[in-house]
Amino acid sequence: METQNRITVAYGDGIGPEIMDATIRIMDAANVGLGYDVIEIGEKVYKAGHKSGISPESWDTLRKNKVLLKAPITTPQGGGYKSLNVTIRKSLGLFANVRPFRAYPPFVPSHFPHMDLVIVRENEEDLYAGIEHQQTSEVVQTLKLISEPGSEKIIRYAFEYARAYGRKKVTCMTKDNIMKHTDGMFHRIFNEVRLEYPEIQSDHWIIDIGSAVVAARPESLDVVVTLNLYGDIISDIAAEVAGSVGMAGSANIGTNYSMFEAIHGSAPDIAGQDMANPSGLLNGAFMMLVQLGKADKAELIQNAWLKTLEDGIHTGDVYRLNRSVKKVGTREFADAVIERL
Ligand code: NAD
Repeated sequence: METQNRITVAYGDGIGPEIMDATIRIMDAANVGLGYDVIEIGEKVYKAGHKSGISPESWDTLRKNKVLLKAPITTPQGGGYKSLNVTIRKSLGLFANVRPFRAYPPFVPSHFPHMDLVIVRENEEDLYAGIEHQQTSEVVQTLKLISEPGSEKIIRYAFEYARAYGRKKVTCMTKDNIMKHTDGMFHRIFNEVRLEYPEIQSDHWIIDIGSAVVAARPESLDVVVTLNLYGDIISDIAAEVAGSVGMAGSANIGTNYSMFEAIHGSAPDIAGQDMANPSGLLNGAFMMLVQLGKADKAELIQNAWLKTLEDGIHTGDVYRLNRSVKKVGTREFADAVIERL
């Protein structure tokens, strides 16, 4: 794969600037050979009058560099502006959201030391299509939109991912006992596509009991492919049972563009306090470096990061009195990774 040297970077809101600063410092110390075009997105841009939360110049930068490393952004709940995350994913055609969840025993306590699960979430359709309206003064409606090409694309992506990474099983999760048309179609396409991958096991869980399996027996799962909303919800469950929501990264992949981020949000409760764990964004950056043809650098940083965890240098979210050696803030954690490069 061609080696690209310039990416777009967005520092985001809340803890975003702190974890992005840590991630960039670590990448630079590892001499990854990247240049950064920084764009401003999120709260400040909305307040400056750009309704979409991103300026036209920033779109130009995104389209030019094709790869975005993005810190979390704040989206108001129950009103206000539309989610910029959803806008970016849809505008750049980032149809696949790949979210690996691993336990890191014994350094980071987890109930499931052998957990190693990848959620492949459909990223453009479903209830996130953004079609919401007031029916009457008392009734509002959101449309759930699922397309056959969209479903086939993500299901095929999950099987291709399993094949490329030597994974043994792909599990589909839907609620097709209730939503027979939308989820029913997704499940039907899964049943068709899986026939083309006879070497990979496949099964299906209804999402409610499937979520319970993620919480209670995540080690029995390998690759999970599911619809947008379900994928969003079970990701946070998977992250927490693996160790902490602050640990997991995410790749948003399209045909021409890609975006890498942490799975968590802007954590306003701990913003500006040098408390956030930068590992989620760093894990997103590992996936980005691999895609950019810099797998050697990804491995170098990952080893230093694992050594930091192994040495018991932990941010507050994964710190445990008897297992950890030192509780550190975001900056000191990044320094510790850099020392171990
Ligand atoms: P959140 O993920 O920001 O926080 C949930 C809890 O996890 C909080 O207690 C927080 O302190 C903790 N946490 C999260 N990341 C952490 C880290 N790196 N280190 C240590 N602790 C961490 O979820 P929320 O509070 O529901 O959302 C806050 C805002 O983030 C909302 O506006 C939401 O829309 C937005 N959000 C953005 C993205 C994104 O940009 N991709 C994703 C999810 C939520």
